[in-house]
Amino acid sequence: MNLEIRGLSYSYSLKIPVLRDIFFSARKGEITALVGQNGSGKSTLLKCINGIHTPRAGQVFFEGRDLLGCSMNERARIVSYVPQAIPGSLNMSVFDVVLMGRRPYIRWSVGRKDRAVVYETLEMLGLDGLTFRSYSELSGGQKQKVLIARALAQKPRLLIMDEPTSSLDLRHQLEILGQIRGFARSEQLCILLTAHDLNLVMNFADRMVMLKDGRISHRGRVDEILTTEAVRDVFEVETAVGIHQGARFIAPLILDNS
Ligand code: ADP
Repeated sequence: MNLEIRGLSYSYSLKIPVLRDIFFSARKGEITALVGQNGSGKSTLLKCINGIHTPRAGQVFFEGRDLLGCSMNERARIVSYVPQAIPGSLNMSVFDVVLMGRRPYIRWSVGRKDRAVVYETLEMLGLDGLTFRSYSELSGGQKQKVLIARALAQKPRLLIMDEPTSSLDLRHQLEILGQIRGFARSEQLCILLTAHDLNLVMNFADRMVMLKDGRISHRGRVDEILTTEAVRDVFEVETAVGIHQGARFIAPLILDNS
């Protein structure tokens, strides 16, 4: 296993624990999805893994390295993080936003390699037409893709993404998740992301970790653990889970009680 979370706990205020004794692992070359109701602690967990929050207890290891004990710069060469959004407006060009991903490698000035990586990443994500546009003028979906480009330009081995497709329409969700899965396989990246759409999780993620009230309730291979019973337990919703024309699906059972 490449990412190992051992006994991680966190609380914003001393009285209310948000994450309690979290244990799970994730592998290189795979996507692991974190799912759970709003407020179950998914974003907080990502921030603890990335060192934005300091856990009250527990450890985070990646390829045997203690991530919480690394310097910020060392950690940034291993892990990159895609937030849901950047708070406030960012008055920069798309090129400069993606260049921010190169910060852990830039010593005195931006080098030719850093520029080349930015251009290459923008092209790979089909964003080359936006290179010199102002980031603040982009649509929500375009901004989300630029933040993903910034994280990839960082050349991480562990990529953490907080709802990476929440602002995208269905076509772009499928495109981005297909690309993300492609990077996981070809670059042997370990990817941990949060997601609300269980249909996308079912078809793109390899493993999942289900959180309920800050604790893990289920974890394992998606095809084994994403069941009607698990969804009832975690989301308190009745669903049908099945396969149609080779695609896995989960549909809510909307019962008419009127
Ligand atoms: P999720 O990502 O699953 O929706 P979060 O990790 O955002 O959940 O939130 C988990 C809990 O922590 C919620 O009860 C939320 O209100 C609380 N919380 C999140 N951020 C903060 C914060 N900055 N200060 C205090 N409480 C917070």
